[in-house]
Amino acid sequence: MARRGRATIAAALSSIDDAELIALARDLVRIPSVFRPGDPTATEAPVARYVERWFGKQGFGVEVHEVVPGRPNVVAWLGDKDGGPSLLLEGHTDVVTEGDPREWTHPPFGAELVDGRIYGRGAADMKGGLAAAMIAAAAVRKSGATLHGRLVIGALVDEEGDMLGVHHFCTTPLGRELSGAIICEPEQNEVCLEQRGVVWARVLIRGRMAHGAMPQAGVNPISATGALLAEVPALEKRLRRLSEKSRYLEPPTVTPTIVQAPAEGIGQSNVIPSSARLTLDVRLGPGPDGDAVAREIDVACQRAMALCPGATIEWAPINGVRLATRVERSEPLVQAVASAVRQVTGRPARFGGVPGSTDGTILRTSLGIPIVTLGPGKRLIPHQVDEYVEVSELVEAARIYTAAALNFLQQ
Ligand SMILES: [Zn+2]
Repeated sequence: MARRGRATIAAALSSIDDAELIALARDLVRIPSVFRPGDPTATEAPVARYVERWFGKQGFGVEVHEVVPGRPNVVAWLGDKDGGPSLLLEGHTDVVTEGDPREWTHPPFGAELVDGRIYGRGAADMKGGLAAAMIAAAAVRKSGATLHGRLVIGALVDEEGDMLGVHHFCTTPLGRELSGAIICEPEQNEVCLEQRGVVWARVLIRGRMAHGAMPQAGVNPISATGALLAEVPALEKRLRRLSEKSRYLEPPTVTPTIVQAPAEGIGQSNVIPSSARLTLDVRLGPGPDGDAVAREIDVACQRAMALCPGATIEWAPINGVRLATRVERSEPLVQAVASAVRQVTGRPARFGGVPGSTDGTILRTSLGIPIVTLGPGKRLIPHQVDEYVEVSELVEAARIYTAAALNFLQQ
């Protein structure tokens, strides 16, 4: 990189005020944004408004896209694309439920700062990452760098649900023009090149209702469910064979998460129900496409049916199939992020993989753009009580995003 580029990065990094970043992350945590269906006050809207105002004050262009009523994406940008690349720093504004607040040592929306950690729901997943992205964008602006291209910051809704926010964003002009994205999810600041895919297979098993004392008169869907559960290890093995080996990801897994009989209504001790339901949480590795995965799940269902004459087993994906994603180390975006880690921390980048899927999965599969997932927070901490983010990781992430954006957008 040219000397002028390095000087700009140094100027941008020195403009970052750690206290301002910590205050911003705590402000975001203090605004609850659990989406609770049926409660119009429990959405991402209040935190989205905060983000919108903050970017307005900093002098960014800001757009608000109402994805569904009361659930707005906020998208801020800096610079003109004008033939250059467009880089997204992505965060989501929703958080998962806090559960029972009495189980928390630190109040879930108190954003307490104790021993170098900020505690609260969303501290790691991912208001910390979002705050770091916001401060990084402001630092890029303050550096006065002439950007070759555009820096976009997306604060999107519903990542923890159906990912409506990112699906919508991919249809907007700012979304469609993207050339790459950094997903600011908590990955302990590792440069994650791969993400596992997922399909939630919702299975309906039908039998025939009968008296429990005369099972020969009916077809028991619970026995057929058992037969399908017995097929799970073989299904997992076949998916592992189909997938490419990965240095960074656990191999595919098939995990039953919901089993229910009867499928509707209340069970009775002396009644064979007419139907049962089963959900399989299937995690995918890189390689097989959606059809190949569906074929393997079909095989498991057919084998179980063959063992239970009279029963039928059907399945459908809840919310489609999200395939695993992978980017190569040689990608310019990966180079920009890995160099940023070296510039900021003085150590080489640690590469890794994301165990679940994120908004980045949709950006990668819908737009075909390279994505890198990197953000502050321990990988295992999201969705737990006493969720926290280490301030040192938060500060490091903001600095890495700043340098990465300048590496990618300066020529
Ligand atoms: Zn998240």
